[in-house]
Parts: sequence; C-alpha cells; structure tokens
Amino acid sequence: MKQVIADNLARVQERIATACGRAGRSPAEVRLVAVTKYVGVDAVAALLQLGVHDIGESRVQELIRKATGLPHRAGDPQAPRWHLVGHLQRNKVKAVLPLAALIHSVDSLRLAEEIETQSERAEVVTPVLLEVNPSGEASKFGVSVPAALPLAEQIVTLPHVSLRGLMAMGPLAGGEAATRRAFERVRELYDEMRAEGIGGADFRELSLGMSGDFELGIETGATIVRIGSALFEGLPQTHAEPHEHEPAR
Ligand SMILES: *Cc1c(COP(=O)(O)O)cnc(C)c1O
Repeated sequence: MKQVIADNLARVQERIATACGRAGRSPAEVRLVAVTKYVGVDAVAALLQLGVHDIGESRVQELIRKATGLPHRAGDPQAPRWHLVGHLQRNKVKAVLPLAALIHSVDSLRLAEEIETQSERAEVVTPVLLEVNPSGEASKFGVSVPAALPLAEQIVTLPHVSLRGLMAMGPLAGGEAATRRAFERVRELYDEMRAEGIGGADFRELSLGMSGDFELGIETGATIVRIGSALFEGLPQTHAEPHEHEPAR
C-alpha cells in the first residue's frame, strides 16, 4: 500500500510543480493536505512515513477515530496536523478543537461563536478558514460571496478565533470554465479582505482545489490544495463517501 501511495504522491507532487511552473509560483507556496476520508488509518501512517503531515478529514467522528488510532500525541514532530475540511456542526466543536490544526469550514457566525466559547474555555486560539460558496449552488455549504466580508469582519472580533483565510469548492456543474470563474471570485474576495487588513498578517491562506481541479486552484493562488482520490488510486476504498456537496445519499 505504501508503494501505491508513494507513486500517487509523486505524480500529484509533479502535477503541483507543473501547475506552479505555469503560474510562475514556487511549489513551496502550496501546501498539500491529504484528505484521507476514503481510506483507513494505515494509509495515514503511510503518508506520515512519506513526509506528508497535513492530513484532512471531512467528518469529525472520522478525524477523531483516526487521530486516536495513531501512536503520535500532540507535540510529537511526527504527529499529523489534522485539517477539518468538511462541514462542522456546533455540537461537535468541543470534540474537534483539541485535535484540529485548522478548521476549513467556518461558514456562520453561530459556528464561529461556538468555536470562540470552546476555545476560550480550553485557553487556546483556534485557526480557521471562512468557507465561501462562490457558485451559489444550493447543495453546498459556505457563505455567499456578498455575505462573506461582513461575516469575516465579525469573526475577527472573536479573540480566541484566528481567521487565516478562505476555503471554497468548485461548482459541480459547468466544467472548467465555471470552476475557474468560481475560484477567481474567491481570489478577488481574498484580495479585498487582505486590502482591508482583515485578519492581519495571519490572513494568508487560500484553500482551493481537490483532485479534479487543484491545478486551477494553484493558478488562482491556492496556498492549500485538499487532495484525496488522486493519492489513493489503486487502493481499495474502505471508507467510500461522496463529496459533501454531492446530493445526499
Ligand atoms: C473529499 C474532499 C476533498 C478531496 O476530494 P478529492 O476529489 O477526493 O481529491 C477536498 N475537500 C473537501 C471539502 C472534501 O470533502
């Protein structure tokens, strides 16, 4: 299994380098988050051995299951940095806080306020991204483009929440042109927020792109790409699960 993942990883890294080359960017500017929702904890262990330490999960329960199934504890340099990339319910905030290095999916003030309350109790400051829904597709999470700036302005008033940037998914329909437009809209919003000084110097992450569209993400300025299936091709899917924005089963 490790060899299959190593080969896939090499291909993904090459594609990242090529996209960076086209965009005149350095691959060092783009962080790969390996989304492991399709595979088991052994695949996470293999990724860690291959030097990939940013690991993403879309569900809190699965993140906790995998994090507690690994031998690494907080502070261990070999420990994964967990990214929660999927929708977060308020009643799961408390459980995920001690584990997640970055929450990509804050899309409401109520959720941000719950993260504030729990972070204050735990005496931590929690890094988050604001999830934007640039295409307006109803099946997706994320705040609308017009509502994003006012929401960001409210989130940055919360002392135990640190707004680090924006996350978005491309639209399901419309192909590459629609994805490019959606990503560019998010990039404009990101530039606008930076120009206004929202989040200060720590506001510098743009989480754009998955297996099918990460090159477009990189061309649009992504600092984080969230890649699952392209890393695990050829492995049995132990945890098959659709993308969150696909119709409910
Ligand atoms: C599953 C998922 C990914 C990874 O998707 P792939 O197409 O498998 O690369 C990225 N981001 C989110 C929010 C996801 O749910």
